[in-house]
Amino acid sequence: VRKPCIVVLGSAAAIPSPSRFVPSVLLMGLRSAILMDIGEGAQIRLQEAGVSVCKIKAVAVTHLHGDHFLGLFPMLQTLTMQSCNPVKLISPSQELCSVISGAQGVSECVVAVHGQSVVVAELAVTPVAVNHGGILAFGYHVSVPIDSKGRRKVGVFYSGDGVCEDECKQCLKQLGVDVIIHDSSFMVADIGRAIASGHATSLDAAKLANELNAKLLVLTHLSARYSDPRSVVSDARRVFQNVIVARDLMTIPLSYYAQPC
Ligand SMILES: [Zn+2]
Repeated sequence: VRKPCIVVLGSAAAIPSPSRFVPSVLLMGLRSAILMDIGEGAQIRLQEAGVSVCKIKAVAVTHLHGDHFLGLFPMLQTLTMQSCNPVKLISPSQELCSVISGAQGVSECVVAVHGQSVVVAELAVTPVAVNHGGILAFGYHVSVPIDSKGRRKVGVFYSGDGVCEDECKQCLKQLGVDVIIHDSSFMVADIGRAIASGHATSLDAAKLANELNAKLLVLTHLSARYSDPRSVVSDARRVFQNVIVARDLMTIPLSYYAQPC
C-alpha cells in the first residue's frame, strides 16, 4: 500500500474478539509511523499488517481506559528485545508518564495539552480535548505531508472515545480535517446509553464530519450489541455521505484526500 496511509489495528469497543481487537490505529507517514491508542494485541495486528514494531516512532494515548492503552507494556518489551529505537509517548495525563518513567523502550513522555502540537519527525500531532464523561480524554489531529517537500498535506482526526464539542471543533477547524476516524459506539436510538457512558453516536460523528467539511468518515469502536453495522451507518448517512465502518487491518491510503495546493 502506498504511504501515507492508515491501518486500523483494532476496531472494537471495550472487549476484544478474534475479528475485532480493542482500539489502535496505525498512521504511516512517508518516513515515520505512529500509533494512536494501543489496546491489547496491537503488536499482533502490526505483525499481521507486516509492519515492524521498530518502525513506530511515537504512541499517542487518548485516555486511560484500559482498552486504549494496555497494549503499551508488552510492546515496550518487544522494542527492547529487538533493540529498536525507543518511542516517544504522548500521554493524556502525568499518571501514565509517572508509571512509565525510566522504563526501557520509551525515549520521553509528553503530557498532552489541548491545541499544543507535538512534532514526530515529519508529522505534527495535536491533542484536542473531547468529552468522554468524567475522564480526561483527547482526540489526536495529525498533519500528514503527502509529498517529500511537504507541499500538500492531509489532516487526520482520530477521536478516541467521546464527543467533539465547541473547543474541540474550533481547534479542528483551524487545523483542517480531511479524514475522521471516530468513536461510533451507539446508534441514535441508544442515545441515552451514549450520553451516560460519554460516547458518541454515529450521527454525532457524521455531524462533525459535515461541519468540518471532511472527505471521509471512518466509524470505529462500535458496540458489540449491533450484529449488523449497516443500521449504524444509515444513521450517519442522513447527514454525511462518505462514511465507512472500520474493520481490523483495513488500510486507507491518504493521498487521495489531500488538500489542493
Ligand atoms: Zn473510554
